[in-house]
Amino acid sequence: MTAHRKSNGDTATFVRRHIGPSAPDVAAMLETVGAKSVDALMGETLPASIRQVAPLDLGKPLSETEAIAHMGELAAQNQVFTSLIGQGYSGTILPAVIQRNILENPAWYTAYTPYQPEISQGRLEALFNFQTMICDLTGLDVANASLLDEATAAAEAMALAERHSQVKAKAFLVDKDVHPQTLAVMRTRAEPLGWNLIVGDPLADLDKADVLGALLQYPGTSGAVRDLRQAIATLRAKGALAIVAADLLALTLLASPGELGADIAIGSAQRFGVPMGYGGPHAAYMAVRDALKRSLPGRIVGLSVDSRGAPAYRLALQTREQHIRREKATSNICTAQVLLAVIASMYAVYHGPEGLAQIARTVHRRTAVLAAGLRKLGFAPQSESFFDTVTVDAGAHRNAIVARATSERINLGLGGAGLRIALDETTTPATIEAVWRAFGGTLSYAEIDAATRETLPDALKRTTGFLTHPVFHAHRSETEMLRYMRKLSDRDLALDRAMIPLGSCTMKLNATTEMMPLTWPEFATLHPFAPREQAAGYHALFARLEKWLCDITGYDAISLQPNSGAQGEYAGLLAIRGYHSSRGESHRKICLIPSSAHGTNPASAAMVGMDVVVVACEKNGDVDVNDLRAKAEKHSNDLAAVMITYPSTHGVFEEHIREICDIVHDHGGQVYLDGANLNAQVGLSRPGDYGADVSHLNLHKTFCIPHGGGGPGMGPIGVKAHLAPFLPSHPENRHPATNADAPVGPVSAAPFGSASILTISYIYILMMGGEGLKRATEIAILNANYVAARLEPHFPVLYKNAKGRVAHECIVDPRQLKTTSGVTVDDIAKRLIDYGFHAPTMSFPVPGTLMIEPTESESKAELDRFCDAMIAIRKEIAEVESGRFKIEASPLRHAPHTVHDIADDNWTRAYTRAEGCFPAGTSRTDKYWCPVGRVDNVYGDRNLVCSCPPVSDYAEAAE
Ligand SMILES: *Cc1c(COP(=O)(O)O)cnc(C)c1O
Repeated sequence: MTAHRKSNGDTATFVRRHIGPSAPDVAAMLETVGAKSVDALMGETLPASIRQVAPLDLGKPLSETEAIAHMGELAAQNQVFTSLIGQGYSGTILPAVIQRNILENPAWYTAYTPYQPEISQGRLEALFNFQTMICDLTGLDVANASLLDEATAAAEAMALAERHSQVKAKAFLVDKDVHPQTLAVMRTRAEPLGWNLIVGDPLADLDKADVLGALLQYPGTSGAVRDLRQAIATLRAKGALAIVAADLLALTLLASPGELGADIAIGSAQRFGVPMGYGGPHAAYMAVRDALKRSLPGRIVGLSVDSRGAPAYRLALQTREQHIRREKATSNICTAQVLLAVIASMYAVYHGPEGLAQIARTVHRRTAVLAAGLRKLGFAPQSESFFDTVTVDAGAHRNAIVARATSERINLGLGGAGLRIALDETTTPATIEAVWRAFGGTLSYAEIDAATRETLPDALKRTTGFLTHPVFHAHRSETEMLRYMRKLSDRDLALDRAMIPLGSCTMKLNATTEMMPLTWPEFATLHPFAPREQAAGYHALFARLEKWLCDITGYDAISLQPNSGAQGEYAGLLAIRGYHSSRGESHRKICLIPSSAHGTNPASAAMVGMDVVVVACEKNGDVDVNDLRAKAEKHSNDLAAVMITYPSTHGVFEEHIREICDIVHDHGGQVYLDGANLNAQVGLSRPGDYGADVSHLNLHKTFCIPHGGGGPGMGPIGVKAHLAPFLPSHPENRHPATNADAPVGPVSAAPFGSASILTISYIYILMMGGEGLKRATEIAILNANYVAARLEPHFPVLYKNAKGRVAHECIVDPRQLKTTSGVTVDDIAKRLIDYGFHAPTMSFPVPGTLMIEPTESESKAELDRFCDAMIAIRKEIAEVESGRFKIEASPLRHAPHTVHDIADDNWTRAYTRAEGCFPAGTSRTDKYWCPVGRVDNVYGDRNLVCSCPPVSDYAEAAE
């Protein structure tokens, strides 16, 4: 084992590092909550009828050192070939300064989605840079802050086109030169909605086609660079929408999709520094013309102003979120790929426009030399114009060439009849000479180079500038780059500073050991479509992880394909749909969803063509079983499924879960159990045992994948055996559990989703073992009950079970205080920033309340610090109630406080600057200063700015 694979610090097991409270802490906390023992508390929290009987047996847990050694063995089973496969994935060089200071830096990777903009200005700026980069390169007006992958971005673009097209026909043309996985994912998306996909040649087939839009790939998957202007003009003349899937590096040299007339551009930002990782994670992008911006799926960062009128970033147009639009939402995307978008944006900051163009020119030059050599050897490329990829017809020599390439440790692209060779930033002249040898000739790169001219068509050369903003010019030295990234991360509050008590988000420890292997080359550099035998280590990991997740959930089969929880919901509902139609019951389309459900649930149901029927909740938060029964009866003939979250989104284990499952099954429906709250169940109860048929498991919640500031994530689904045939398949890499005619297509571009981060969850389970995982669940529940017990005298705790217990989270309800003092849930959330905390989840699932989920990883000391802050805030509210000042004049309403406040020479407020900036119990020495005051959301949505504004706007902010 090489030195970098050693880890230290395991004098005892990892379990006691992962879990916050010590044994004496646990005893003290049990006393506070009034429980005799942890066991007794579990008995009071979970219904006896669902308790797991057999203990979880996942093998002996490994220490951190042993786990790293084990990962080294798995890594050694993966073979790192040079992949020239292309098809949307390229080798790339992640600058070391970005790898260490972003990808391997908890200040970036442990942050949450920037819903609290005041504590997220750093990553919001990085995402704003990403959007600016995408707008510049694509030549379009507004870009979002990432989507899950290129194939799902294409499907989202098609759905957007369907909403906006003036063409009534439900047909859509897909370029025959598109990546096959993109086409497959689009087929999966189109089929339930009854849209007809036509695969054709956009240069020949568009005139006669009655289509609502088309997706054109630029350059094509074959490598061909075609002039798409005519095709786009034809589409737009009909009132149809033109979507271009474009390669970002190519766009530094080629005319942009916007200049060609496109309405929408999509693609992947992977080759901007993000390792292939055997499929991911990577950020996809989407950009649109201004007229379409209010339909753009995913999150958009916009510029607004703060309470002092200074520019401040925040997520724009939040009213379009699924939580508000539910089944009418534009898409179900929630977790996206923030960390990877940040890396891609930093790659552009690091290289700048000249640097990117230089990389592109070198790659193109090498491709031109490669093509000239191949021509000399009798294999002329199929297209005269290309950027970095050529396809040749190898005829009868094909197998021999592939075999020789393999012996050179090179993977060629095998799609279709031809052989594809795709170059990238990492390709050397030596690699090109090796390719020529595979094609049967010994040629010198230098000689061919001297005789080659370039091949980009003049009409398609880029003439417009890009990345003109100073941020893409000012950080060229490593010192400047390092400090820029440090400056941004210092603006943010992530788990490396304080607990993030976000209910439903499970912000637990992301242990360093869990994070280490994913950047090892044996995991990071594999192409997702590399031959399976080169990824034996990965497949051993997948098989064991699937087995463990089955043991944990009681399901029979797992798909590791979905890239987020919401994508898992979509995959699970597709499985239910596939099952019904296999039994001749494709009319089953009603999906029952409780009113308290997470917004992605109804949005996912709509995506698979189901009709949502809302089920009421009772006063105590439980699903109203009578209403559920009545609706199941009413829709008995057409009932497809219920989607239910357990423990409920209210953070309570409802007694009736088995009964709910039985009712739905009696009416022929399937039970989709949203597993986002699995952190309350692992080792204690299994959805597969008490009646659920399918669940997604948010690995970025329960199983330690960090949230990355809003992604990556992984949402594998578990299913009972009868649904296993309907798990998502994939055209490029058939899993043994699926087969050639699998009824359900892929939901992600890569067969195992974001494979490289599965290592994190794998190592977590490896080091915890069954007992440790159960202990984690118990302490998560204890911590939540402890917070509830401490806060209850000050804020009502909204929902509990009959024995007065909450599950792994609790909702505190300040709505009454609004009547007595005028304080809003926003005021409390922003005031918590002054105390050095990230707010709990606001207004979900109950408007006007706060949902707190401490997780097992927070120590008693940190829980106390948080509870003390909440109690101190309650005292501040009491001061408003008692008339010391009006709410408008209180530190609550002026929160969060900034250095601009403490340095204010004209301080005229009703409280002192110290009261504002250093509230009771906080440390002056270790103060977290958020860079901006409260951000004005309404202003930002009225004046939508989503890419870098003129520099003058920043001048004032920098003062
Ligand atoms: C987080 C969450 C989801 C969605 O997961 P993403 O990975 O963000 O798509 C769905 N349901 C519930 C209850 C959740 O908490």
